[in-house]
Amino acid sequence: MNAKSRWPTSPPSLRNWQLARLRAYLRDTVLPFSAHYRRLFEKERLDPAMLRSPDDLRRIPFTTKSDFLPGHEGADPVRDFALAPDKAVLSRRLSTIAKALLRGRASVAEGFEREFRPLLLTSTTGRSAEPIPFLYTAHDIENLKLGGARAYSVCGANREMRMINLFPFAPHLAFWFAHYGGAEFGAFVLGTGGGKTMGTDGNLRLIKKIKPDVLIGMPTFVYHLLTQAVADGFVLPNLKKIVLGGEKAPGGMRRKLRALAAQMGAPQIDVIRTYGFTEAKLAWAECPFHEDAGSAGYHVHPDRSLIEIVDPKTGDPRGEGEPGEIVFTPLDARGSVVLRYRTGDCIDGGLFHEPCPYCGLHVPRLVGEISRNSEIRDLQLDKLKGTLVDFNHLEHVLDNAEHIGTWQLELRKQHDDPLDLDELILHVAKPDMTDDDRLRVTLDARFASETEIHPNRIEFHTDEEMRRLQGVGTLLKEQRVVDHRPAGVQRKDAEAQRTQRI
Ligand SMILES: [Zn+2]
Repeated sequence: MNAKSRWPTSPPSLRNWQLARLRAYLRDTVLPFSAHYRRLFEKERLDPAMLRSPDDLRRIPFTTKSDFLPGHEGADPVRDFALAPDKAVLSRRLSTIAKALLRGRASVAEGFEREFRPLLLTSTTGRSAEPIPFLYTAHDIENLKLGGARAYSVCGANREMRMINLFPFAPHLAFWFAHYGGAEFGAFVLGTGGGKTMGTDGNLRLIKKIKPDVLIGMPTFVYHLLTQAVADGFVLPNLKKIVLGGEKAPGGMRRKLRALAAQMGAPQIDVIRTYGFTEAKLAWAECPFHEDAGSAGYHVHPDRSLIEIVDPKTGDPRGEGEPGEIVFTPLDARGSVVLRYRTGDCIDGGLFHEPCPYCGLHVPRLVGEISRNSEIRDLQLDKLKGTLVDFNHLEHVLDNAEHIGTWQLELRKQHDDPLDLDELILHVAKPDMTDDDRLRVTLDARFASETEIHPNRIEFHTDEEMRRLQGVGTLLKEQRVVDHRPAGVQRKDAEAQRTQRI
């Protein structure tokens, strides 16, 4: 066992240790109190004791986003997926009897409240779909604090650091994870509520006043803020880390953020990503790395989360370090609980169980770039100008392109006529003085070579115009792809809308 972390260090022992935790969790907590999983396990004639080796995990059917859709048999996600305690079952628990004898019935009742009464929710986001709420009890908030504090620690934070949490103030995981994690970690973390709550100016005033060591937020918003900060002549020599969540942050974006920090007198900063999603009620961080050496991946603490990688087409498990879709199972959640949840997110590296080569932590690591199917949203990209477009790839291309500060892709119908052709407009704010025409030619060629289509137009904007286009200060999350085609033309793909990421 690892003295510091309380789980086995060898990969095979760790997997068996997690499986034992899962069996106990299913037997004592999930199956007695989850309407959905009780039905499912009965239907499959499945008993937790049958899960003897990691291969047996596949006996548990996946849970997917479609299980939450209205109209699905028995689908009431709040009720069916939330643990509803049965007092009779609880009172037969050995721990309950022992506690009642030692501390009295009132203490037992209080314990049940802490374990099962919902106190908080965060929800998935979506424009066309109803958000799905995920409930947290006091027990879950303890796990949120623990998971958050661990993420601060993985990022290499220390308590002396002053931090600003720029995530949007909303019932979304990102804000609350950073908030509760910071409180538990024990450092000064000021939540500004992001652009919509305080505006760009309000956030900049606080940054100027606090002189933070760490900025935490969504890449596009942090980029906007720092661009403005540089334009306003800010000096932030204290800045040591930028911690990102909510969107992808490929190498190009990280490079731009480093360059902005350098212009403000902070030449050596860590730009660190996190990955999480509403259904996990947790997120995981990378540890600091040199860009040349590459990231060691998201550090997943194995006592709370069991991660599998599966073939996205067949659902078959993939081996150590093989790419595939990320599947999540909690090991200690209360409130809303999903088992073997298919995220729709594919990772091009895989899951590694060897200790981290940088920080030495013995935890499973999700290594590689994650492509989020949910980000394809409801755009009919497959029919865009008659050509299949891999939006995830395109996003990487644009984020990594030289001379692009921020960008937005806009879809329209020509003449706003639903029967006319699709139009694709690339909006760009430049970080430098590159010649418009030359950049237009370069970007058009790059676009065509990567996607086989040409944008109809490439339009250049000032930073201020781009902030307006992307909704900085008016929307919770900046828009990098907008579909201005008439509503009837847009695909109503509710399923792809549901997962909010941090
Ligand atoms: Zn590490």
